[in-house]
Amino acid sequence: METQRLRIAMQKSGRLSQDSQALFKSCGLKINLREQRLIAHVENMPIDILRVRDDDIPGLVMEGVVDLGIIGENVLEEVQLIRASQGQPFAVKTLKQLDFGGCRLSLAVPDDVNYTGPESLAGKRIATSYPGLLGRFFAERDIPFKSVMLGGSVEVAPRAGLADAICDLVSTGATLEANGLKEVEVIYRSKAVLVQAPNPLSDAKQKLIDKLLPRIQGMQQARE
Ligand code: ATP
Ligand code: ZN
Repeated sequence: METQRLRIAMQKSGRLSQDSQALFKSCGLKINLREQRLIAHVENMPIDILRVRDDDIPGLVMEGVVDLGIIGENVLEEVQLIRASQGQPFAVKTLKQLDFGGCRLSLAVPDDVNYTGPESLAGKRIATSYPGLLGRFFAERDIPFKSVMLGGSVEVAPRAGLADAICDLVSTGATLEANGLKEVEVIYRSKAVLVQAPNPLSDAKQKLIDKLLPRIQGMQQARE
């Protein structure tokens, strides 16, 4: 059954949580986010906020379980690539790129490795949580490599002897440095985006979204 309240998914805890919450606040949403709650009701508008793992957000939006979501482009693009490789469609509407969540997906190699370009990694093992984006980068260059899929702790893989290089998210580079790695190639630049479910929403919900979008636009312009 479709609820009348607009449902928005955000990351429960992690790098996008604080900024997502601040964005809602700046749009005038009054939210009481009690720690362990999955759903928070907005007090002054017909909106519910769903707090989940970021990886769940593309699926929830695509299926229309929620109407909107805030998610990193890196996750969105990865899900799309993986689904495409399995012959499954993936469609969500990107409403707006947001001014937070900035990071890059980069290749990094041990400090003492002489890197002269992507071909330096031909035939090597590369650990990543983003096999889709990594695979596309090397496929476009016709360079063979071996993907080592790791859900976490990617940066320790070379030292542990699991991989020759890594492909991981970077913002400052401090984590790489701490693990004796150097960033050698940026393969994807990402920010958080606001996405909408592919199917048309009720007039009331769409009107609410049309009212929120200019507020987000205004907020971001003011911050520039
Ligand atoms: P969850 O528990 O929700 O699955 P997570 O560990 O997968 O969390 P985070 O590390 O919180 O995710 O990152 C969420 C998103 O924040 C990333 O997908 C990316 O879009 C963005 N991000 C911004 N800076 C960084 C960074 N330095 N490292 C990783 N992600 C970053
Ligand atoms: Zn995640």
